[in-house]
Amino acid sequence: MITEELLINRAGFEENIRKLIGRPVLLIELDVFALPCGCAGITANMRGLEVDDLEVFEPQILPLVKEMAIKLGVKPTVTFARLVPGSSIVASLNWRALCPRCYPEFARGESKMPRPDLYLLQFERRK
Ligand SMILES: [Zn+2]
Repeated sequence: MITEELLINRAGFEENIRKLIGRPVLLIELDVFALPCGCAGITANMRGLEVDDLEVFEPQILPLVKEMAIKLGVKPTVTFARLVPGSSIVASLNWRALCPRCYPEFARGESKMPRPDLYLLQFERRK
């Protein structure tokens, strides 16, 4: 049952992030989504997480986000943090299997931030 898996993984991911960062970070909502364009994936809405945390703990966070994708059966083209515009606050972590139309938006340049509100954790570039 997918709702049971979501509940277990929400709690597990939150606990791992808290242990890692050492602050009471919250995963307030874990969602599975499908968009009209063809993109699909999962979103973890976060509270208390900062972009600095991602930079400092990236080597430790990457295995956690990878594990989450495997556990929920998502094969993301891209895993990224969405920031509150103009701030260092992480609003959500997103695992997304990109449709052909949305791919170029993330493939722009080589930067970890293709847009000021996006911080890429993982990106599988097309050959
Ligand atoms: Zn799309």
